[in-house]
Amino acid sequence: MSGVGKGVATASIGRILKSKGLNVTAVKIDPYVNVDAGTMNPTEHGEVFVLEDGWECDQDLGNYERFLDKNLSKVNCITTGSTYLSVINKERALKYGGKCVEVVPHIPLQVIEDINKAARKDKADIVLIEVGGTVGEYQNLLFLEAARMLKLKIPKDVLIILVGYLPIRSKDNELKTKPTQYAVRTLNSTGLQPDIILARAAVPLDKKRKEKIALNCGLDERDVISAPDVESIYEVPLYLEKAGLSERILHKLNLRSRESDLKDLIKIVYRIKHAKDEVRIGIVGKYFGTGDFVLTDAYLSVIEAIKHASYFLNKRPIIDWVNAGKLQDLQKYDGIVVPGGFGSRDIEGKIWAIRYAREKKVPFLGLCYGMQLAVIEFARTVGGLKEANSTEIRKDTPQPVIDIIPDQLRRIKMEKYGGTMRLGAYPALLERGSIARFAYKKDQITERHRHRYEVNPEYIKRLEAKGLVFSGKSPDGILMEIVELPRSQHPFFVGTQFHPELTSKLFNPNPLFREFIRAATKQ
Ligand code: GLN
Repeated sequence: MSGVGKGVATASIGRILKSKGLNVTAVKIDPYVNVDAGTMNPTEHGEVFVLEDGWECDQDLGNYERFLDKNLSKVNCITTGSTYLSVINKERALKYGGKCVEVVPHIPLQVIEDINKAARKDKADIVLIEVGGTVGEYQNLLFLEAARMLKLKIPKDVLIILVGYLPIRSKDNELKTKPTQYAVRTLNSTGLQPDIILARAAVPLDKKRKEKIALNCGLDERDVISAPDVESIYEVPLYLEKAGLSERILHKLNLRSRESDLKDLIKIVYRIKHAKDEVRIGIVGKYFGTGDFVLTDAYLSVIEAIKHASYFLNKRPIIDWVNAGKLQDLQKYDGIVVPGGFGSRDIEGKIWAIRYAREKKVPFLGLCYGMQLAVIEFARTVGGLKEANSTEIRKDTPQPVIDIIPDQLRRIKMEKYGGTMRLGAYPALLERGSIARFAYKKDQITERHRHRYEVNPEYIKRLEAKGLVFSGKSPDGILMEIVELPRSQHPFFVGTQFHPELTSKLFNPNPLFREFIRAATKQ
């Protein structure tokens, strides 16, 4: 089921195999009909992750990149929509040679072709393919059929790993194996038998339950791997390695056994668990409720980037979600982040928080929308432009300091929304002497984008005259990529049109996050 930890499990297996010197890549299969994740809102999908090539995808791709320390691309993402689109385009181009094109076998064959494409592009020894959704539901049936056909073709080269969930009965705290047993039965009905089961539960699996699963599901006990909740997701590879998972995988794939080198990870996990000094960060954003619950993963990469930077500086991050619609006391935070977003709900709350950070000299990092709102706040309070706004928030604002990128207007008129924002990696030139230049330690950077609006060039001179520094610009000088306040006036006030959180890695935190957290720890 969703949220059980398939993504982290996949990424962790990748990390271990990589540490054994194998070249690993990963493919995420999302069963929805959307061609990519870009057209869904956060309550539907959680965070939309953006790759270097601009592909908008599931946040699991973020986990893969963070765990594998490698950039992925469009080929690493498959959905029902992308598969059907390829098949239909081929059919229209007469690529099926007059055949009747059918759901089976042509859809699963396309899936296999797309998996091969990723394997070839990434020159992979091993491709991890994560099938999203739950076994037994209609949505992912054709992907399981693809797995069956692939396994039929190259039986020795395909392994099936089931991530099973073991609930704990609340009345007596007993760990129950039955849902996992039934998941295996259901998987069997698609023609697949798991080679390995990862038993996800809040607690470790005991010997008795391991035996029970092995017996009832037809597996060797060594192939039932306990995967309990751990304090940090970065501990998962260590846990799985200790449980012997990678050796079982190599053995079953007829690959020779080899040592894994997880020293770096062991070191950093120790640091994660033992850091004493806290740094308190408030993320001021829209509150996303689903029924009686709150969606927590809409800004996953931002949270991970804050963690990476904090671990790097040997700090324990305390990260709070601050509802911009109902602003609370911001005094307890050492740093404030206003992340990306869309639309006009709760905007004034975010602007209020930015003003607070600017005037009280609390380290501030604005990401995409957060940067645009920082420009609006500055224009209103310091720049004398009382009506300053973004045309995204108020179409007829007399002072549009943030306006739509002209090319975007054209696309929207044609109702071309999917994959048409300014997406993916673009370069920016950094101003000498700026905080940005100091953080990145180079003159030119590339970072990933996802936006339709930009700082309106007509207001730049005026804002600069009032003290706002545009320290990062597109090479043609037209697009403002970074704004900041001079260090003489504020310990750290930086906003970026791009999303620095998307490139942050555990061993290599994004430089702006690093400097932001460093400033926050001095509060
Ligand atoms: N809504 C803003 C824009 O489209 C910011 C987007 C974002 O934060 N990703 O430009």
